[in-house]
Amino acid sequence: MQNKLPSVAYFCMEYGMDSNFKIYSGGLGILAGDYLKGAKDLNVPMVGIGIKWKQGYTDQLIGADGKPFDTYHNHVYDFLVDTGVKVTVKIRQRDVVCKVWKVEKFNNVPLYLLDTDLPENEDAWITGQLYGWFGEERIAQEMVLGIGGIKALRQLGIDVDVYHFNEGHAVLAATELMREKMLTGMDFYSALNSTRKEVVFTTHTPIVQGNESHYLNRLEYMGAFNGLTTEQMVHIGGAPFNMTVAALRTSKRSNAVAQLHAETANKMWQHVEYPAPIVGITNAIHVPTWVDANMLEASENNSSIWETHMKNKRDLIKFVKERTGAKLEEDVLLIGFSRRAATYKRSNFIFTDEKIIAPLLENKKIQIVFSGKAHPLDDGGKAIVSNLVAMSKKYPDSVVFLENYDMTIGKTLTRGSDIWLNNPRRPLEASGTSGMKAAMNGVLNFSVLDGWWPEACDHGVNGWQIGNAFESENVSEQDENDLKSLYKVLQEEIIPTYYDNRDKWVEMMRNSIESTKHQFAMERMVKEYYELMYQY
Ligand SMILES: *Cc1c(COP(=O)(O)O)cnc(C)c1O
Repeated sequence: MQNKLPSVAYFCMEYGMDSNFKIYSGGLGILAGDYLKGAKDLNVPMVGIGIKWKQGYTDQLIGADGKPFDTYHNHVYDFLVDTGVKVTVKIRQRDVVCKVWKVEKFNNVPLYLLDTDLPENEDAWITGQLYGWFGEERIAQEMVLGIGGIKALRQLGIDVDVYHFNEGHAVLAATELMREKMLTGMDFYSALNSTRKEVVFTTHTPIVQGNESHYLNRLEYMGAFNGLTTEQMVHIGGAPFNMTVAALRTSKRSNAVAQLHAETANKMWQHVEYPAPIVGITNAIHVPTWVDANMLEASENNSSIWETHMKNKRDLIKFVKERTGAKLEEDVLLIGFSRRAATYKRSNFIFTDEKIIAPLLENKKIQIVFSGKAHPLDDGGKAIVSNLVAMSKKYPDSVVFLENYDMTIGKTLTRGSDIWLNNPRRPLEASGTSGMKAAMNGVLNFSVLDGWWPEACDHGVNGWQIGNAFESENVSEQDENDLKSLYKVLQEEIIPTYYDNRDKWVEMMRNSIESTKHQFAMERMVKEYYELMYQY
């Protein structure tokens, strides 16, 4: 990209830069980490703003009772660079000091992380646990990210043309941008209009409850009004104050993370007055982070695709053996599945009719490896994990559950599985990037037409679809429709192709790689953000 590009400050609560840098939880963070790496590859003017989490997200292990439990410990990193900058944010009438660290270790554009874990802070724990708390503590974290983030940029002397809020968590940054302007004598509406010209916003979650809102009196008590009045806060975010609504109203442009998600998001937020228009920019992955270079090369030369895959599959089988003791077989179709365990993602869907699935497992037609954490406070999600663990005990050496899902597990599974199963209840999966990792590694997607998959799926050519995009108000009707299709395609198409038509399978692997490796690579996504969001 030539000309002078706008310089961008990208705000996000979490970043998945590396498996052992525990400042991420899941898809949002992985996307943000990949984005900062892709920005570096293209050499565009961008910095990231985030939080240095002391304990990160939960380490979720499985107890002797087969149930998940959460553990936390302090992480110490030797690669954080001290910028010497400290900023203060007034939270609950107290000055909270935020130290600013810089991270460039992962071939990324500079990432600045705010940290309240300092001896001078009574509130040192604010940056303790990622998504660990709700209410006041969550607001405090969002004040550090948003308000502290803007102050850090000023102190660091970084010129910014565009502030990009990746998800609504960062929206309090808008109050700081407005406060700065109002201090120069601008009135509220002029400050809002002028702030809108420099802010863009990416919305991620198509689940209403997933879009946070806060009571105004609580925000006021916390100091999150940041100089604005109640009326002005309501004008921005409504009452209660909805972070997504506020972000739609303080930005000039917003986007959803896949084309189908753009439709869903526009419907979902159509009641909001004066929102930024929501366009679709489909997520992507940082290819060097996730895709086996040997596999890309094999695909280009159209040779040794199968051998390269079998090496990755053996690596996965070895990894599973080391972690769980389970013995998987390299000649048995291996289904991979890893997702956050939330009810709408239906992780244990394939077990719905055990009459169908048990013989396939017992006769070694299929073997399945699962992974995924439930949010520490999500009992429904935890029940799903317990159920998957129970299945792994019932079908040893055919069903595996890997505890404590992280980037290492994600990478190993999306390289070494034969197929990648994804069956959320449509249209609740905004994008999903693990399927892209799988696709480019020659791991065939077997997925409902949700998130990014409708943009890539050519059934029977580069993977398979589950269902026909059918949706119903009646959840069990929709589940039934999807389930029938899942079993039919698995038994009539996938299993026969795998065991009886290896040439076709390898051809599909190649189609999978070739049809996704450019379209869903981070380079395309970074360019689209510059063209559609930042550049005017
Ligand atoms: C890729 C990845 C994700 C995102 O995948 P989804 O398809 O959105 O579930 C989440 N967590 C980890 C550890 C990953 O590697």
